[in-house]
Amino acid sequence: MSIVSNLELIRSTLPAGVGLVCVSKFHPAAMIREAYMAGERLFGESRVQELCAKHEELGDLTDLRWHFIGHLQTNKVKYIVPFVDLIHGVDSPRLLREINKEAVKVGRVVNCLLQVHVAREETKFGFSPDELLAYMEQGEWRACSGVRICGVMGMASNTDDVSCVRDDFRRIQEVYLQLKHLYFSDASSFCELSMGMSGDYQYALECGASLVRVGSSIFGHRVY
Ligand SMILES: *Cc1c(COP(=O)(O)O)cnc(C)c1O
Repeated sequence: MSIVSNLELIRSTLPAGVGLVCVSKFHPAAMIREAYMAGERLFGESRVQELCAKHEELGDLTDLRWHFIGHLQTNKVKYIVPFVDLIHGVDSPRLLREINKEAVKVGRVVNCLLQVHVAREETKFGFSPDELLAYMEQGEWRACSGVRICGVMGMASNTDDVSCVRDDFRRIQEVYLQLKHLYFSDASSFCELSMGMSGDYQYALECGASLVRVGSSIFGHRVY
């Protein structure tokens, strides 16, 4: 299968209005260019150095938008803040503060999603639903003028048990709807629910995902 035909297949399953983040990590810039030529504009990377190198290499594609989807270390925030379009995985108050600080420095407002952790795996990053609600209640985020909180990101458990995957996505959606209701009912920019990858995005769509992050179904398997 080619990138173009993979994209056609995936596109045919996405409702209008759902954004496709083409997860290009570990794949060369030439493959990103191919997807771009096929009409894609959102690309997701999970390592800062790799993202910066590709941003430079593909600098001629001026309307290509870079999403950072991995765990972001605070000491690397400054490298991506000048150009990143959306940071999906804001998983701590400290990271949000750091993004804000660097964004203010360069005069940007950086779009961010708060990562909520519901999956079984203990190693995954993110706020638990309770931690996230407590953080929002506490209110420090309101003073962060360099950050625009646009929604919530999450991952389902890594399991073949579809009912477990659906439960996880439902819980992430509930957190999103709660935050929308409590803090962002007037904010049209709070509209993104990022969940679903190659193996489970169809279930995420059932639970209201507005952005899906698809890598291997587009670009093939990654060689780490
Ligand atoms: C790698 C990655 C994806 C894409 O995974 P695929 O299974 O290749 O579609 C999605 N989200 C995050 C956070 C990732 O790190």
